[in-house]
Amino acid sequence: MIEERKTKIIATIGPALLQANVLRQVLPYIGAFRFNFSHLNESKVEQIFSQLREILGMQLEDIPVAFIADLRGREIRSEAVTFTLQQGEEVLFKKKTKEELELLEPSPMRKAGSLLIKKPQIIGIDHGFLYNLVEPGQRITADDGELIFSVKAIEQKAVRVVVEKGGVLKSHKAINVPGHDLKLPMHSKEDKRSLRYIAKQRFNWVAASFVNDADDIAEVRSFLKKQGSSLPIIAKIESNLAVKNIDEIIDAAEGVMVARGDLGENFADEDVPVIQELVLKKAREKGRVNIIATQMLDSMIENPRPKRAEATDVAQSSRLRADAVMLSGETAIGKHPGAAIKVMHRILCASEKYWTSNILQEYKSKTDIMPICRAALQLASASAVRHVITVTKRGKSAVLLSSFRPDITCIVAGMNKELVQRSYLYYAISPISIKETTEKDKRFAEILQNLRKVRRLKKGETVIFLYAYPFFMKKSTNTIRLLEV
Ligand code: PGA
Ligand code: MN
Repeated sequence: MIEERKTKIIATIGPALLQANVLRQVLPYIGAFRFNFSHLNESKVEQIFSQLREILGMQLEDIPVAFIADLRGREIRSEAVTFTLQQGEEVLFKKKTKEELELLEPSPMRKAGSLLIKKPQIIGIDHGFLYNLVEPGQRITADDGELIFSVKAIEQKAVRVVVEKGGVLKSHKAINVPGHDLKLPMHSKEDKRSLRYIAKQRFNWVAASFVNDADDIAEVRSFLKKQGSSLPIIAKIESNLAVKNIDEIIDAAEGVMVARGDLGENFADEDVPVIQELVLKKAREKGRVNIIATQMLDSMIENPRPKRAEATDVAQSSRLRADAVMLSGETAIGKHPGAAIKVMHRILCASEKYWTSNILQEYKSKTDIMPICRAALQLASASAVRHVITVTKRGKSAVLLSSFRPDITCIVAGMNKELVQRSYLYYAISPISIKETTEKDKRFAEILQNLRKVRRLKKGETVIFLYAYPFFMKKSTNTIRLLEV
């Protein structure tokens, strides 16, 4: 039995995680899978879906994690070629035509030093107007600051830059203009295609990259609505404007992610931890899901053990009561995906024991069932009960219980599989799926039996039941009951 934990782990899907022996072993530790649409298209996602079904021997809707679709958003990436760049060298950033891209030699590595380059090397980017968006003197970075360039001149629909910090520019890496939000439309053609697909698939959350304001969230929402979908939206906070407009974004979205990779390109290093804490606090006060992402255990892409500072970062995220912490390259392409997830689990478990939560007084909400959720948690803590069990129809009590950041695990039993899956992302919430039944009296017995089997509640343990009575009468949660298992 794996130790119960309140902070959830989001694992980005990639070839590293999709190894059968790895995935089977670590699935119980994972709260959500992230599908990164910066690197995926429909056919690749379909392939992943069938790998998941095959490896886990389950239908997608029965896999006990939330599925997050992470849109690409306002982002520029380099072409699918690896370049080696030296300091002082001049290169051009330019959108290449199809013919120009096809002309590339198949070799994955084009060493600048090994070729006699007469005219400047051109690095293809997937955006046609970068030259309209930058000025000489500005800095451009690639791969979260791994490479740095300064703009020398704008010429013929291209940007001429000098390499300030050289190195290897790997295939398809993000290009940033630090401190400047690129004035790109919220959704590219590619994003719209992804959204149309996502709306029809088994996803529970949509993460919107590079949102700048509440209008951007509204745009995603209305696009989804046109596709018949009401998926909840996580706003990724990674641009200057997003930080400036954080209040309206939090009001408009169901969740936020502190996307430290791109955020760290747009702000000074010392600003990122402060923004992180501020965003989390604001989100929690409004009962919004909050996630800390990027470079959490970055060195584990290569090494089997984390750095001390990384372990501390994970522990601090638990102290900040984030709903979830995210692994990116560590699980997508890293050498130690299983170890990264397990070490993260151990760090979180240890920290959660140390920093008790229960911040009942801090949460502000006017929702009708808020007082009863709070009362159930207060009763639990006063009577040393370890589990609150709630039966949910619309998932409301799951969000509310979680947003109080309780000290104990709340079990959310639901009949709607989509809602059950969505709830795996919430802090301290442990969802279970129950069958539709018409025999009202059997409901408690069924849930408890189910829980004893799945969650192994201890015999004789007292639990708190939170439910709507009478069952099936369209009442909202109105009853708290102490029950001995
Ligand atoms: P990304 O988002 O990995 O999609 O870029 C996270 C971040 O920017 O930190
Ligand atoms: Mn990003």
